[in-house]
Amino acid sequence: MSTIVAISTSPGIGGIGIIRMSGNECFDILNQFFVPKNKSKAKSYTLKYGKIVDNFGEIVDEVLVSFFLAPKSYTTENMCEINTHGGTVVMNKILEICLKNGAVLAEPGEFTKRAFLNGRIDLSQAEAVIDLINAKTDKESKVAVEQLEGSLSQKLKEIRKKVLSLLADIEVTIDYPEYDVDEVTESKISHVLKEIDILLGALEKSFLNGKILREGVKVAIIGKPNAGKSSLLNLILNEERAIVTDIEGTTRDTIEEFINIDGVPLKIIDTAGIRNAKDAVEKIGVEKSLKISVDSDIVLAIFDASKEMDDEDRKILDLIKNKNAIILLNKIDLGIAINKVEIEDLGKKIVEISAKDKLGVENLYETISKSLKLSEIAVDGELIVSNNRHKSLIINSHNHVKKAQEIIEQKLPIDIVSSYLKEIIEEMGKITGESVTEDVINEIFAKFCLGK
Ligand code: GDP
Repeated sequence: MSTIVAISTSPGIGGIGIIRMSGNECFDILNQFFVPKNKSKAKSYTLKYGKIVDNFGEIVDEVLVSFFLAPKSYTTENMCEINTHGGTVVMNKILEICLKNGAVLAEPGEFTKRAFLNGRIDLSQAEAVIDLINAKTDKESKVAVEQLEGSLSQKLKEIRKKVLSLLADIEVTIDYPEYDVDEVTESKISHVLKEIDILLGALEKSFLNGKILREGVKVAIIGKPNAGKSSLLNLILNEERAIVTDIEGTTRDTIEEFINIDGVPLKIIDTAGIRNAKDAVEKIGVEKSLKISVDSDIVLAIFDASKEMDDEDRKILDLIKNKNAIILLNKIDLGIAINKVEIEDLGKKIVEISAKDKLGVENLYETISKSLKLSEIAVDGELIVSNNRHKSLIINSHNHVKKAQEIIEQKLPIDIVSSYLKEIIEEMGKITGESVTEDVINEIFAKFCLGK
């Protein structure tokens, strides 16, 4: 592999700038232009003071170089980091000298990619490096550090071991010519599948926690015009942010605000009224409402309870029937004319409120909290999956486990179970990088910054 080099500190003027080089030829290249004060052979994890000189023997900078001898380095290769005075001109000059002497410019993320390709870290750990660099909150960085330390990799190894051993048991059973699965084998399979189910289920659930703490729970308020969406939002936010109006369809775009329930941020999204759109602008609003309700974690569907149900209300009921939704019967101060039985049939939680008279709000918060199990959300001491790519692979694995469990329940041939188990191993391997294509690897590392 070639020897790569890049400026690792961010562009601009700084007290110190760092140029990083990694590869077998790293020290040979360095020796062409680095004149150390102490000429002895550098030991790993030591610093040397010296001068960088160009081809004409002119001094470019006084520097400190740190040495990392293979295999104990970030990339597992020979590595050095040149600590320069942090001016752009100086750093670019030194970079150019490295290139002239045989190093090649590193791609974004190439140092970390080498750490992965050389087996020092797995793919999930490499991805944690990006998350750590990009972390916006304390909690996020904490989750990234844990993942970097290998907490997710360890958990996946534990699950993978169980899957592999179960697979081995099943393959042995299949090899019996009479193809007869005794009771013990079947109950053992379902016992182990249950264990895997629980472990993957916990990881899957943890993603929601990670996402919630990072982005907040997305709560969409939907309802036809005049149902009271803006009034509810105002009430929740306790301030006049949204436009409350009698004219239908004026809330054309969406408004987003955060509130806290049980210490968890809730991102409230008010949408344009859902109805048969008459003009183009409103059409966008309606489509957006539909989209937002799809993207949200929970939908608050608000109805004007003082009126009888009409077709538009029914459309909204239809929209939420397969969603995590709470039905709000608003304007109860005007009396209830809506057909409650028809709504109850949907089997969703129903909360009666009056946005105008501020009735039922506490009950609404409690219902939201219970529906999302907000009180159970905690970060400390728990493994949290925070990466979208990992989440979908964990969900896929979990689905395969569920299918395998169905096979056992229905007493179908167990070789089908083994094919699901193989899928699980494949999916989990995509998280750690064992069974991932080069394209995916390239895509992941392309998100890195230069010099990392
Ligand atoms: P949106 O179109 O769904 O956002 O509905 P608005 O929040 O703009 O409310 C429409 C109309 O209903 C306004 O005149 C509000 O004052 C009124 N309204 C909203 N909630 C209540 C309520 O609980 N009781 C009564 N009586 N009127 C309400």
